[in-house]
This record gives sequence, C-alpha cells and structure tokens, in this order.
Amino acid sequence: MKQKKIIIGNWKMAPKSLKEARAIFQNNRSIAGKMRNVQTVMCVPYVYLSELKKLITGHRYVLGAQDVSFEKDDAHTGEISTNQLKSLGAQYVIVGHSERRAMGESNESISKKIIAATKNGFTAVLCIGEEERDDEGVYTKFVKTQLLESLTGVTKKNIERLIIAYEPVWAIGKAAKHEAKPEDVLEMSIFIRKVLTDAFSKKVAVGVPILYGGSTNQKNAHGFFIGGEVDGLLVGRASLKPAVFTKILNIANEV
Ligand code: PEP
Repeated sequence: MKQKKIIIGNWKMAPKSLKEARAIFQNNRSIAGKMRNVQTVMCVPYVYLSELKKLITGHRYVLGAQDVSFEKDDAHTGEISTNQLKSLGAQYVIVGHSERRAMGESNESISKKIIAATKNGFTAVLCIGEEERDDEGVYTKFVKTQLLESLTGVTKKNIERLIIAYEPVWAIGKAAKHEAKPEDVLEMSIFIRKVLTDAFSKKVAVGVPILYGGSTNQKNAHGFFIGGEVDGLLVGRASLKPAVFTKILNIANEV
C-alpha cells in the first residue's frame, strides 16, 4: 500500500485572533479533508486547540501542538502536560523546534519530551538541523549529535511514534538566508537514516518518516518530494495561507 505523505503545519505564534484561526483552519480543512494520499496535521497555538477541535470532522486533518511538558505533577506554572493536550484533541506534538532551542531548549529535555509524548499516545515530531553549512562537513557532526542526544533513553517502541523533521535553521522563517536545495535534503535524510541504523537498527531507520521544513511553498514542494525523497513537509508560514497551503497539499497528494 502506498504510504501517505505527511504535511504538518506549524502556525507558530499566529494568527492574532481566534476568529482568524477558525477561518484559516476551516479553509485548510476543506482541502485537506479531500486528500486521500496525505495525512495533514495542524500544529496550532495551545490557546486555539479546544475551539479548533470542534471543527475536526475526520482522520485526514488532525490537530497537533508545538511543544509539551514532560513533567507529571502540577507544580509547573505555565507548562502544558500530555494529559491536558490529549483532552484538547491534539494527536501530534512538535518537539525541539529551532525557535524553542534558541530559547534554551536542550537535547536532554527534548528526549524527555519525546518519551513522555510517545508513551502517552502522541506522535512526536522531532526537529533537528544545523545553523549553518560549512565545506568541512562540521554540520553533519552537529546534526548527528543533536539527533543522538535527543534520542537518549528513547526506545524502539517510542520510535514507532516518531517523525523526524530536518529543518536547517538557515532555511527557516523570515530570517532564512536562502532556500535549501532538494539535494541538500536528500543528503541529510540519507545521513539521518544511517545514524539511526547504527544507533538502533535498519528496520527502525527505514520506518521513521523524515520530513523537510524550511521556507516550503507551492514552487519548491515538488522538488523536495522528488529530488529530496522526503516523506512529507513541515510547513511554517505557508500553513497560514490557505491558497498556498492548498497547492502544497495537492502536490503531496499527487507525487
Ligand atoms: C517552521 O517553523 O518549522 C518552518 C519550517 O517555517 P517556514 O516554513 O516559515 O520557514
């Protein structure tokens, strides 16, 4: 059976109001709900989850969060637990996004979050990626360390619920220096599978979906699927623009 492509939207700290959130979510839903070959996940700010949950109508378009706490007891002001997220309808959770790493998130806490999330039935979307590229290949060592440290204590069982998103920091968001090329992405996804083979097994490495994220849009998405051979995309800004997001979904559905 053909494996579904995975498209994960990351709304970051947008939009500004619940009214806008509902409108964007419904627009995206009307397209994503029709895509037989795509699993679409919208990772929205916590504050919108409970309202957007009411708009979910099937399995093709579901909700995710952008972070989660690994703590179990209540004495963690400002944190959101796996139980709380579950009750709000989230099924996926992004862990280790570069924008959170920039605020001090460590590989150690990321690994605890992956364990807590996957144990509690979530699919964890682990983000990894170098800040810059160099000619000596230091960036591959950086990504390897990030990956292995983020998977400390993570078992093969946890990995059954893991997705890896390769998101080079230099290609993400408004501050992106330039676009990644499909061959950059292919190189890194082969490298990630090699690291996973050595650390776990070939079976584990082959089974983990690898996504690409960083300034994806309707013009470059096809190249990342065909030349980059990815299993899906993590889409930031474009997931807030239904017209662009629709085109990305159509591409994913057709490849
Ligand atoms: C992201 O935030 O994960 C991302 C990929 O952002 P953008 O698509 O806007 O570069």
